[in-house]
This record gives sequence, structure tokens and C-alpha cells, in this order.
Amino acid sequence: MFLFYWVVTPRIRLISIFIITILVVIKSGDVVTMVTDLVYHDIFVEHVMSTNHPESPQRLRSALSSIKSAGLLDNQRINLLTPGKAPLNEVYKLHGKEYLEGIRARSERGEGMYTMDTSVNSYTYDAALYAAGGGIEAVDRVIERESENALVLCRPPGHHAEYEKAFGFCFINNIAVAAKHLLEKHGVKRVLIVDYDAHHGNGTQRSFYSTKDVLYIGLHQDGRTLFPGSGFPNEIGVGEGEGYTVNLAMYPGAGDISYNRAFSEVVEPIADSYNPDFILVSVGYDGHFMDPLTNLGLTTSGFTMMNSRLKELANSFSNGRIVCFLEGGYNLEVMGMCSLNLVQELAGLGVTSFDDTYKESNMASEYTGKLIEKVVAESLLL
Ligand SMILES: [Zn+2]
Repeated sequence: MFLFYWVVTPRIRLISIFIITILVVIKSGDVVTMVTDLVYHDIFVEHVMSTNHPESPQRLRSALSSIKSAGLLDNQRINLLTPGKAPLNEVYKLHGKEYLEGIRARSERGEGMYTMDTSVNSYTYDAALYAAGGGIEAVDRVIERESENALVLCRPPGHHAEYEKAFGFCFINNIAVAAKHLLEKHGVKRVLIVDYDAHHGNGTQRSFYSTKDVLYIGLHQDGRTLFPGSGFPNEIGVGEGEGYTVNLAMYPGAGDISYNRAFSEVVEPIADSYNPDFILVSVGYDGHFMDPLTNLGLTTSGFTMMNSRLKELANSFSNGRIVCFLEGGYNLEVMGMCSLNLVQELAGLGVTSFDDTYKESNMASEYTGKLIEKVVAESLLL
């Protein structure tokens, strides 16, 4: 009947066309304003561990320089965002007050060595608070639909930091603070954290080991051959959290083939079973075969494969909501290439290909096959 009037009544036809046009304009306006936040603060390059330390400010300079050279800072899809500090009461949910006060006091004095593998200068405490604040702001904006997704390009990194322990170049666990914020401030029920840094994210795992509200999946080099010496397949969580920690401890030399398989047979099926409301990613480029600190065999296209599939998972389960946090990566050229590719992927732009190839050893591939079989057989979510 409506179709009849629509065809025969010019006035109704005109009004309908007008309404449809307005809806299309609003919809397309919505799409144009959706941006990828690139969260960065100048204080991130003021924190210096020690002279010639691999976790250096140059890492961020290299990342930013390649993003800028590709013209992405002028692209309307990218929003460079300067964050504020994380509120202390939110950081206290993940770290002891005394511990944080200790970092603040030592940092104020610019004391240098803090623990065996961390040191502070006068910017460290504030830089750590801005890094954690960047994560909070990034997830807030994604929840509020002010941005589509984000990369928190921060230093110091966070995934090794434990409740009262600065560890592995980390002081405050940025991704854990953001996950807790999502659960408690936004009432999010299920957060998936994927950590593909070459080192096991011991601090993040420990923060959520006994809860099912956060599913932690770590893909890293086997702890028998690399710091921090944890993250084995039998670490699966405890109590209510049993089954909600998944560790894929890769054989040295494992690369794109192994990670591809791990995504198809473990990461994606488990994400499917968990049905996350929000995805957070600990990004580390130290799994690249050129990294000086590790022995894995990923290439830039391996990282792009993971980024693209993580974004796809976010589209399938969490309404596109995904925020990435920079952790490690110590080859400056790789930092530049991989950071550029990640921002391109998040913003839905074409991804630049680089000429870096690596052949994974048969031994690594075979080991990965057995590892995946074990993880799948013992998973409580599959
Ligand atoms: Zn690492």
C-alpha cells in the first residue's frame, strides 16, 4: 500500500527521498569522523633507562618517523592524541601504593638503577602514569564511539610489571590498568588480551589469573630459552579463571607459519568460544627475526597477518573495539616498519609491504604442531 502511495504521490515521494538523503549524510558523516587514535606524549621519550639501553627513546622516534614519513599524521583517519595521567586510584588496583611511592621517590631523585633490569630518571614516574593514562583514554574513547580503535605508542612498556615489582623494563602494567578500567568503569563483561610480544606477559597473566572476566592469550618464545622464564602451556589460570589463560610457548625460530597456525587453531577458535566485548593487544615487535634480544622468526607480513586477524576478531565479536599497546621491539628499523603497518591496518588503509623474508625451520614448525595439539586438547574453552 505504501509503495502505491509512494509511486503516485509526489509529495510523499519527495519527503521519503529527503529523509533517506539525510540518513545517508548522517551515516557517511559518522564514518568520516571515526578515527584511529595514535596515543603519544612527548614525556615517553624523556624516560631513559641507561646509556645505550635497548629499551631506548629511539624506538618511539623510529616508529613516529616512519608513520610521519608515510603521511599518516596528516591523514584524516588518524588522530594524534596527547593523553593525561592515569588517576592513581585506578593504578592502585593493579599495583601497591608503597611500590608506586617508591618509584616516585626514586624517580624524583633521578636515581638510576631501580631493580635488576629497570632504572629510573627524573621523568620515569610521570611517563609511566601518562602511559597508563593513555590506555585509559584510548579505551574510553572507543567505548564512547569517539574513535574506532587505537594504538598507545608508549614508554615505559608494561606487560612484565607485577603488583609490587618493576620488571623487564616495565613499571606500571598499562594494558592491565586499561582492562580493569573496562571491567569496573564501563561494566564490560569479557575482555580478551592477546599478547604477541616475544616475551611472556607475566605481569598481565598474573593480574587476571583467577578471573574469567579477562582471557589472556600469550604467544611468545619458550620461557626455557628467554626472559622471563614463564608462560608454559600448563599455566592455564586458577579457580574461576581456570582455562582463561592460554600460553603458546614457541620454539626458537618459529615464525609466520607457526603463528599463522596458532591463530587458526587456537586464538580464533578460543576467541569464538569466549565472545569478547573488547579486545586489547600487547604489541611487541621483538618476535621479528632481526630483533637483537630474541630468537623468533616473524617477518613484517607475519605481524600484518596477526594484526589483520585481530581486527577481524574485533569486528566479529566486539563491535570493532580493539586497542593496542606497545610493549617491546628492539630493532629500530623493525620498529618503524611494524608500527607503520599496524597504524595502517587499524585505520583501514593499505598496508605497505617490506622486503624481509625468513624461512622457519622444520624443527620449529614440527614443535608448533605438537604444542598446538597439546593446548587444544587441554583447553577448557574448546
Ligand atoms: Zn618483549
